[in-house]
Amino acid sequence: MSLHIPAEFVEKYNKPGPRYTSYPTVPVWEPGFDENGYRAALTELASRPDDELALYLHLPFCAKACHYCGCNMIVDHGKDAVDLYLDRVEKELGMVTDIIGTGRKAVQFHWGGGTPNFLNEKQTERALKMFRDAYDFQPGAEVSLEIDPRIATAEQAAFFKSVGFNRISMGLQDFDLAVQKAIGRNQGRERTLDVYQGCRDAGFEGVNIDLVYGLPGQTSETFQKTLKEIIQLQPDRVACFSYAHVPWVRPNQEKVDTTIMLEGYDKFQLFMLTVDLFQDADYTWIGIDHFAKKDDELSVALGNKALHRNFMGYATKPAPHMLAFGMSGIGDVCDRFVQNAAEMSPWEEAIDAGKLPIVKGHKLTDDDKLRRHTILNLMCNLELPWSLTEERWGASVKELMPEMLKALPELVDDGLCEMDNTGLRITAKGRYFVRNVAMTMDAYLGKGKGKPIFSKTV
Ligand code: SF4
Repeated sequence: MSLHIPAEFVEKYNKPGPRYTSYPTVPVWEPGFDENGYRAALTELASRPDDELALYLHLPFCAKACHYCGCNMIVDHGKDAVDLYLDRVEKELGMVTDIIGTGRKAVQFHWGGGTPNFLNEKQTERALKMFRDAYDFQPGAEVSLEIDPRIATAEQAAFFKSVGFNRISMGLQDFDLAVQKAIGRNQGRERTLDVYQGCRDAGFEGVNIDLVYGLPGQTSETFQKTLKEIIQLQPDRVACFSYAHVPWVRPNQEKVDTTIMLEGYDKFQLFMLTVDLFQDADYTWIGIDHFAKKDDELSVALGNKALHRNFMGYATKPAPHMLAFGMSGIGDVCDRFVQNAAEMSPWEEAIDAGKLPIVKGHKLTDDDKLRRHTILNLMCNLELPWSLTEERWGASVKELMPEMLKALPELVDDGLCEMDNTGLRITAKGRYFVRNVAMTMDAYLGKGKGKPIFSKTV
């Protein structure tokens, strides 16, 4: 390991905390924010016709539930479920375009799930057409989807490329068979490799792999084997997410055998190993949990301090708004965050009643915008110049957020960050604890009651 970080140190900072794909984070959004709030945001968007958009479509269907799953998905569905779902997405799209009009510029379109490749070719083409009819995809727009290799084929990968997707992410999680068994996801090495090669042969601009560390059955030895195999494949980007064990939020995780799951310091070692191996293999460590080849847009954007973070993670194509469709989709429109119903029935009922299916949201205050700006800058660029806020807010970060300065000396003493007259910078050690540093700027933390909604930072 390139760094030695003692176990007591890791435990000190291993506490529940957000991943800051947004600020304020979803748990503090208000249930009272309903479709009227979203309609107001869309009406404002209609008055800004040149603003570019990012689009998200949630496709919740899965062939079989994985024990560790933290997504909004459904496995029990009838024969026509996908077609009926797409009928409703079409209605949802129509409700939005009734307000903002058609032909708005789109620079990013992502399909997440669930399992987007659960759709057959006809359904895939239909869903793409709906969006192409409603939006004007700009040259160079990123059109991406996540696939589950268990139900994918090389031919399917070629099909996705032929209909216009240019980036594809494979949920691989771990090659180890014992781990796959422990998470209820037997996906077979040969098939996975065949699908990966199919993606490569199809000529995607980016082929990405998603891994998860901290899964039951993983050990340093087994995970190292998986990581080395992944490096041999040379994907463009790798996301290595920390397994968040929150069975009180995701009851399906009750099936996870926690007696064979590394936690705390031992789990942290898995991530340190990941960082070491990818950096040794000449990948750039991006933000908290992504790795990208040196010539990948993410690495270039990091070098140019032009990296962005949104609900989908790290991004290179900044769009001031994100419109989300489908159950559980979360959007960001004209400084309002909105979340669609996370369960199928309420989402369907709202659409059938001609309502936008919003169940919670939040209108950002000026203080929220200030903190979002500083937190996301830290999560992307690993630094916080005190002058960052001067142009927009007329004062430095130090003047605007004095309470953060009270919390920082302990983090500086512990070696997570350095401060001088110009700003704050994350250290090599602090890279593993960026979320903890960001938490010093979060005005909402610690105000909730009950069991923590966030997973632990390690
Ligand atoms: S982990 Fe992915 S494939 Fe497995 S149930 Fe969840 S969404 Fe579906």
